[in-house]
Order: sequence, then structure tokens, then C-alpha cells
Amino acid sequence: MQKNSIGLYIHIPFCDGKCFYCDFFSENRPDNDIDKYVYAVCKKINEYSNINRKIDTVYFGGGTPSIIGEKHLGVILDEINNIYNLKNSEVTVEVNPSTNNIIDFEYILKKGVNRLSIGLQSANDNELKLLGRRHTAYDCIKTVKKAKLSGFNNISIDLMLGIPEQTTESLKYSVEFCNNLDIQHISAYILKIEDNTFFGNMDNKTKEKLFFDDDKQSDFYELCCKYLSEFGYDHYEISNFSRQGMESKHNLKYWNCDEYIGIGASAHSFFNGKRFYTPNSFEGFYNNISIDDGLGGSCQEYAMLRLRLKDGINNKLYYQRFNCNIPDEYYNNAKKFQKLGLTECDNNGIRLTEKGFLLSNALISEIILY
Ligand code: SF4
Repeated sequence: MQKNSIGLYIHIPFCDGKCFYCDFFSENRPDNDIDKYVYAVCKKINEYSNINRKIDTVYFGGGTPSIIGEKHLGVILDEINNIYNLKNSEVTVEVNPSTNNIIDFEYILKKGVNRLSIGLQSANDNELKLLGRRHTAYDCIKTVKKAKLSGFNNISIDLMLGIPEQTTESLKYSVEFCNNLDIQHISAYILKIEDNTFFGNMDNKTKEKLFFDDDKQSDFYELCCKYLSEFGYDHYEISNFSRQGMESKHNLKYWNCDEYIGIGASAHSFFNGKRFYTPNSFEGFYNNISIDDGLGGSCQEYAMLRLRLKDGINNKLYYQRFNCNIPDEYYNNAKKFQKLGLTECDNNGIRLTEKGFLLSNALISEIILY
């Protein structure tokens, strides 16, 4: 059994509306439902009180964690702090810019939160409207200013690529906007049209008109990487960029195939070698339903996840973990793409290049699933 530190993910499934692209589990519910949910989260945290593992990252995701306000977050943080020593742990809360007026940043900072992840998506208000977001770019400025004044110095912003009507100029403006806010981390995700979302339910003709094709998405991704690198952000994972040393420690656990406990409706866990999750429903969570998702942590799974990182699969780390070298087949497969500038293979290991990141899904399958 692994005895290293683990992460804790808390899912807060409340939002004040539904963004047009969103397929996360979240609902608009009255306050008494929030009380009930917070109570159930605390109860579940207690069920893990004897795991005898250090928790070194906590991540409140959603949904919109900030919508439940500082008092509810504080109740959950107190519960975690009563059981685990969170000293030197990274504790992140996702914040929606529209909630800057209902959350007391100083309060959650005192409770141990030391990182904020703000869902901006675009600094252009027309693009925000087209995504069904319920805030403006100015709300984000207010949120960052308020957070910094309260003492936060580890802030991430989410951007989206491939938004309807997005242009190269408007993307550049969004990246500059984030850089001007002097934040430490940026996640830039390509818009994906998921089934059962407002966008996903549109007819094909409308979709073709509104959304980017693969080539245009790639162009915008490359452009975004270029702008962010010009501003000095390190491209450490396919969709993530940071100032030196300011990578998301919690999300690194996912890409390093490390273990974590997920609490709440729709939360996934990888714990004691097993993957499992709670269904996408309040009832499933309240009734303690857990769905088995098989064993985790195989060398293949590890390699697939690590290839999402700039550092790729590292020989030494691979040996430490599995007591054997990276399989020759991985090397042979990766070398086929080296001439095309998509991979790098040497004594340190195997990595995808930035150009390779663009084709990551296909490349990772070609390298690992031989
Ligand atoms: S705020 Fe986030 S979780 Fe809520 S609807 Fe929008 S994308 Fe989904």
C-alpha cells in the first residue's frame, strides 16, 4: 500500500445558473440544501479520519465553491483541520468572479485557503455572454484586487479557447488581461461541445456556424501558448501554464498518477490502489453510493498521465515507482515521431514537445497502446 501524501478534492455542486458548455454536476439550489450538503461533506471527511496519510493538497471544485460563502467553506475547513494537519499544504478554492461580493477572502485565508482558481474564460464581455457566463471581465478585476488585498499571492485564472466569435485579437487581449493582473497560473482549455449541454443540444448547422473546426482550434492553441510564453509563463502541462514554482500541486497529483480522495456528488477518488466515484446526484452522495472504477496506478496509466506533462515520463522516477525501466516499445514508438518534432526521447525519458501537445491524444495512444 502506498504511504505517501494524498490530495483531497471536495465537490461543491452549486451554481447560480448553467453555462452553455457545462456538463459538470451542479445545480441552482436553495440555502437549506447547502446546509444539508455541507453537513454530509463533513460527515464523509470524518469517515476518512483513520487513513493515516498526510493530506498535502485540498481542492474545492465545482460547481461554484465560492457561492456557498465563507462560513460554509469555513465549516468544512474546520472539519478537515480537526483531523489532518494542513500545515504547508496547498489549499485551493475555485471562485466565480460573480461571487466576489459574497465571499470574504480574509476569512477563508485565515481558515487555511492559500490558492484561488478564478473561472474567467474570456476578458471580452461579448464572449462571456455567448458562453452563458454570468459575470463581466471587470468582475474578475475586482475579484483579483480584493483577493490580493486580502493577502492571496497564488492565483490562477481559467481561459477558454475556441469561443464563438473569438478572434486572434480577442484571445491576445484575454491573455494580456491575465498578465496585467499579475497572477501566477493560467489554465487554457479548448472549448469542447459535450452532449446534454445547451451547446450540445444545438442543431448541427448552428454548431458548424458557431464553433471552430480542429484546425482553427489548433491555431488558437498555438497562439495562446506563444503569447503566454512571451509573458514568461512556463507551459508545464498540455493546458496549464505557471510562473516558476507555482504549478498546481493538487492537479499535479492527477498527472503524476498519485492518490487522492474525492468527496461529494460526482467526485472521483483514487485511493489504496482503487478508483471509484460517487454518482452525479445529491441522493447518491447522501446515500453513500460508491461506484467501483477498477484498479489504478498501472505503469501504462502512469505513462499516459505523465505524457501530459512537459517533463513526460522520466526514467529515474519510472524506475523508482515500478522497479524497471521504461519499456523499449515506448521508446521505439516515441522515436517515430521525433523526426516530426512531436516527441523528444533521450536518457532522461520520453516527452511530447509543444507541437506534440496539440496531438496529445493520438500520440499518447501511439506510444503507450502498442
Ligand atoms: S460556473 Fe462552472 S460549474 Fe457552474 S455552470 Fe458554469 S462552468 Fe458549470
